[in-house]
Amino acid sequence: MRCHTEYLTFHTRKHREYVHITPQVDAILGRSGIKEGMALVSAMHITAGVYVNDNESGLIEDIDQWLEKLAPFRAEYRHHRTGEDNGDSHLKALLIHHEVILPVTAGKLDLGTWQRVFYAEFDGRRSKRVIVKVMGE
Ligand code: ZN
Repeated sequence: MRCHTEYLTFHTRKHREYVHITPQVDAILGRSGIKEGMALVSAMHITAGVYVNDNESGLIEDIDQWLEKLAPFRAEYRHHRTGEDNGDSHLKALLIHHEVILPVTAGKLDLGTWQRVFYAEFDGRRSKRVIVKVMGE
């Protein structure tokens, strides 16, 4: 089995942002030369995530509102006793999860018709990284 590893860097302008990264992951897969296996895409942070879903702007707004409803910004999180103010960002990241594994078949990401890969930023305006590790033959 071979492995090919690259890193994506994000510095979002907004505090919360959802970035479509399927083209970047596809390009890394192409450079890997791996034809059969899988690609791990994993946020290297505790206030960001990676998910698979539709690249549709209304849905992305719905996801953002749903996360804010389930894990709203509040001043009184115990985490804020550390001097931080991003308690909601940690909770939103838990809901989305931090990584996905994508199947690779015949040298392509073997995704369903509407499946796209997204980086979800919950505490942006600073540099964050995602690791992409392609494993296979
Ligand atoms: Zn924090």
